[in-house]
Amino acid sequence: MDFSGKVALVTGGANGIGAATVRGFVARGARVAIVDRDAEAGAALAAEFGQAAIFRQADVTRGADVAAYVQATLDAFGAIDCFHNNAGIEGKVAPTAEYEEAIFDAVMGVNVKGVFLGLRHVLPVMIRQERGAVVNTASIAGLVGTAGMPAYVASKHAVIGLTKVAAGEVGRLGIRVNAICPGPIDTRMVRDIAKQVSPNRPEAVEEGYAAGLPLRRYGRAEEVANLVLFLCSDLASNITGAQYVVDGGRTAVPVGIS
Ligand code: NAD
Repeated sequence: MDFSGKVALVTGGANGIGAATVRGFVARGARVAIVDRDAEAGAALAAEFGQAAIFRQADVTRGADVAAYVQATLDAFGAIDCFHNNAGIEGKVAPTAEYEEAIFDAVMGVNVKGVFLGLRHVLPVMIRQERGAVVNTASIAGLVGTAGMPAYVASKHAVIGLTKVAAGEVGRLGIRVNAICPGPIDTRMVRDIAKQVSPNRPEAVEEGYAAGLPLRRYGRAEEVANLVLFLCSDLASNITGAQYVVDGGRTAVPVGIS
């Protein structure tokens, strides 16, 4: 996979899966625009790559911020070939019968409206260029339910819906739009979820969950980035409107007895 001469844009690019995607793109020759609300981590990551990266602070739930990060990318690099529409939050772990309305709105705001706004502002650029590839970060929570995460599960199902719609709209131009469905990946997000479930022994939650996975471990952010890079590359030239799991076997084998 060679991204020489290509421009990638990654939201939620300052940490976790997004940061791994940024590193993967730069290592394969791309110039990258990193977008995140976390200014400290975003600026520090961009600084590692000199002229090959810019950082733009933005809140993906605000249309004006999204328009500004798209324009900043075009001003710096002149095109957007690959878009990893990735920023997301987990919300709280609580049953539907007790879930707070404000937290539901916050999760839907980042995970659904943020992904929509990314598509809304990047697709016109790709349509003008008549080329481009988008990868939206969904989750295995976009395919199956998880008791105690109503907003997150609903939001990630919505990401898969947005992916299918956009793929149908821009496919005739050769622009591809896919979704990825990570399982548990070792980032701040899953550590926070484990702390919510068991504030005193979060590591026990993680160990228990990992033991039930066919591969017996959480994934690494780089392993998700590898799938993003593949889907953005010409190797995936006939793939659009699809969703791919990268989950250590979780959805294939949800319950283990051996
Ligand atoms: P993370 O918390 O390490 O990274 C998320 C990034 O998004 C952070 O840098 C954060 O600052 C940024 N962000 C959050 N809200 C934002 C906003 N409103 N505007 C701009 N930036 C914002 O977590 P991660 O695990 O790397 O998550 C990345 C994506 O992967 C998310 O969409 C998440 O739902 C998804 N995902 C993660 C896992 C996992 O196990 N870690 C599994 C499935 C899906």
